[in-house]
Amino acid sequence: MINETPRVRFAPSPTGYLHVGGLRTALYNYLFAKHNNGTFILRIEDTDRNRFVEGALENLLDTMEWVGLVPDEGPRQGGISGPYIQSERLDIYKKYADELIESGKAYYCFCSSERLEELRDTQLKAKVAQVKYDKHCLNLSKQEISDRLKNGESHVIRLNVEPGSKVKIKDIVRGNVEFDRSTIDYQVLIKSDGYPTYHMANVVDDHLMKITHVIRGEEWLPSTPKHVLLYEFLNWEIPEFAHLPLLLNADKSKLSKRQGDVAVEDYREKGYLKSSLLNFVAMLGWSAGDDKEFYTLKELIENFSLERVQKSGAVFNIDKLNWLNAEHIKNQTNEELLPFLKKELEKSEFRDKTFSDEYLLKVAGAMKSRLNFYGDFIERSSYFFEEPKTYSQDIVDKRWKPETPEHLNKLISEFEKLENPVHDQYEISLKKVAEELNIGGGKLIHPVRLAVSGIGVGPGLYEILEILGKEEVIKRIKTAIDKIKLD
Ligand code: GLU
Repeated sequence: MINETPRVRFAPSPTGYLHVGGLRTALYNYLFAKHNNGTFILRIEDTDRNRFVEGALENLLDTMEWVGLVPDEGPRQGGISGPYIQSERLDIYKKYADELIESGKAYYCFCSSERLEELRDTQLKAKVAQVKYDKHCLNLSKQEISDRLKNGESHVIRLNVEPGSKVKIKDIVRGNVEFDRSTIDYQVLIKSDGYPTYHMANVVDDHLMKITHVIRGEEWLPSTPKHVLLYEFLNWEIPEFAHLPLLLNADKSKLSKRQGDVAVEDYREKGYLKSSLLNFVAMLGWSAGDDKEFYTLKELIENFSLERVQKSGAVFNIDKLNWLNAEHIKNQTNEELLPFLKKELEKSEFRDKTFSDEYLLKVAGAMKSRLNFYGDFIERSSYFFEEPKTYSQDIVDKRWKPETPEHLNKLISEFEKLENPVHDQYEISLKKVAEELNIGGGKLIHPVRLAVSGIGVGPGLYEILEILGKEEVIKRIKTAIDKIKLD
């Protein structure tokens, strides 16, 4: 437990979809907050108007809700430090930019894009260590600035970085990181369209929203010294930082769309459970220090700590996700599973048949350890909804012998004696018949499975028989005896 009550934020720029890396950042913020009884805030960073995507915000909020990471404060929840959408906070950023200008920590820059391009080209040609603005506008007279502003000349506001001691960052994941002041660019804080840059808005909001821990992807580490300077210049307390490791493809390149899906929405569409997605992304850069891989959200909250986040990149392994998905389906109670299976039935050829919840709960229980996705359900268990139309030829060839019909007829007579049989009674009867016939149990088990299901795989045979019920079982065995003809 940490001493203060943390306030953390997930601060995505809505691009149209939620990247799995974004989901990981959101989740770690959420887990850290919940583990420490803190507050999880969702803030929308939409100040780059060139990247505006219609509908992106709603989609992002919906996806966050679907996956269950509902913020304590955010655009839909409101809260004490709203609004939570940056484009609705422009006046606030302007006020602090003016303050920085007043104190000489920022300055107006009227350079045209042509001049900046020329400067860049010259510096590139001269092979300078770092391409940087040349502070051309730093020393304009007060009079000139005020005239040019009055004339409505296009301008930006830049950070005034002066020589000095190294900028030090304490990062919970990466340890101490230092940056030479001379390597920090004279960052634009307010753009010519009046919108703040990411750096300006991010720092102002983290301060005003009383963020105690900034937990975000490693790609933001190079921006952090600029942020630290802003905190210094504004005399604000610097939050703690935790930069999360990069997500990598199997070939160790940075996770990219080209090698597979990166949108949470795609995984949702494909039928992954939110619990397995969360479990999967939680393990991308964190572990409790043992071999445990299956976690519910509740267990993640109990166990999570930033100290156990690794530095090195985390490989995105889709096989692991698929395995976890099957594990999470298996872990659901039959009652939890029921609505999803009903949805699959609704989409299937059996949509017009009616099955009681009691029956479907039993099917759910029998099938749940045999599904990778809910979408596998109908295909793998159709025999619970209709009698087999065909019999797997492979299994017929392997398991159906000339003497099988005679054996099965004996078994039918034995089954007929049973009253409301459950699992055990079927087993006892089958063993008894096998003994009388002096054959191994398999000689009956496999043909019966084929007769009732048409295939050779599935839940335990006696479980299937119990679910189907005695009459249906006997009917199906008789039908198979009639239909299966050996050449
Ligand atoms: N808006 C940034 C992003 O899209 C936020 C980075 C941060 O958390 O500071 O990831």
